[in-house]
Amino acid sequence: MAVAIFGSTGSIGKSTLEVIRCHPDKFKVKALIAKSNINLLERQIKEFNPEYVVVFDHEKSKELQKRLSGHNILSGIDGLLEVVQKPSIDTIVLAMTGTTALEPAIEAIKLQKKICIANKELLVSAGKLITDLAKKYGTALLPIDSEHSALFQCLNGERKKEVSKLILTASGGPFRTFTKQELANVSVKQALEHPKWKMGPKNTIDSSTLMNKGLEVIEAHFLFDMPIDKIEVLVHPQSIVHSMVEFCDQTVMANLSYPTMTIPIRYALSYPERLPSKEKLDFSKHSELTFEPVDFDKFPCLFLALDAVKKGMSYPCYLNAANEILVERFLDGEISWIDIADKLKKLIASHTPQNMLTLESILSVDLEAKKEASKI
Ligand code: MN
Repeated sequence: MAVAIFGSTGSIGKSTLEVIRCHPDKFKVKALIAKSNINLLERQIKEFNPEYVVVFDHEKSKELQKRLSGHNILSGIDGLLEVVQKPSIDTIVLAMTGTTALEPAIEAIKLQKKICIANKELLVSAGKLITDLAKKYGTALLPIDSEHSALFQCLNGERKKEVSKLILTASGGPFRTFTKQELANVSVKQALEHPKWKMGPKNTIDSSTLMNKGLEVIEAHFLFDMPIDKIEVLVHPQSIVHSMVEFCDQTVMANLSYPTMTIPIRYALSYPERLPSKEKLDFSKHSELTFEPVDFDKFPCLFLALDAVKKGMSYPCYLNAANEILVERFLDGEISWIDIADKLKKLIASHTPQNMLTLESILSVDLEAKKEASKI
């Protein structure tokens, strides 16, 4: 399989390379794409020797070109599209963040390339557009996120009409046991300490507010074409059960594995095959699996996300973009942790919904939300 990794220097990109490193006979890195981290990208190029390299940032692209005369370093959105169009590439790992991923994704869907999704905007902001297109072109969308990978595996070969509920598990984040009063004073440092998963700062903050789970519910709604009232969130601090599916006969199928991103990444890459992995789930060490309901009062971001899907139209896109800016402002020390939800609630209340049928409308709502969230 010939793989292009969009976002190879990020957390998912690095884990993808870790998986590929274990299976050199199965996967070949054909293209590496990064936004601006050229130092790490240069090391990755030396190790994997890809045919195509893109640095999204023009200046950084030129800088890397000076260092590597043997490679033709592409840049910008044209570079991303050029890589997608290469006939020798059959698998796209979409691990870059933001709406920049939408255009290359749409192109890849039209060209019927296998797409492994780790980018949130694809299904949150453009869910209807993307899933309709994938259906039209018969393109496989394979989830990389552990929850969606779990649901995908539990649903495999089942009849949709017999599914009564999708149950997404949530670790609960670092503030699961905090009181409302304690939550009013949490610091950036505390919010960045996730108990189970190692992720980038944006995702770690989203996990602390449970917005991450909210966005995942929106993704599941579009990816599995499930009404929102059939999707539930359950707190499971051990992060061993990655998600579950309840069927009409009250059978519940769960997907369990050691909590590491390499397992769902490997599955997405190798699907429908399974490849061996060393990360064994040792039940003698993970003998306690507990579950508890979500406290929506303490984590209003999750409520806002579920409400956004119910409202439909441009609300999920608006919510995601506004949240991104509010999280940035929290990381910069400009607003408090509870401000994220408070400000988001106000922003959503004043949003005029739009129909989200085109890429242009999605990008314009995304931009509008970001502008408004930086001012409030
Ligand atoms: Mn997840």
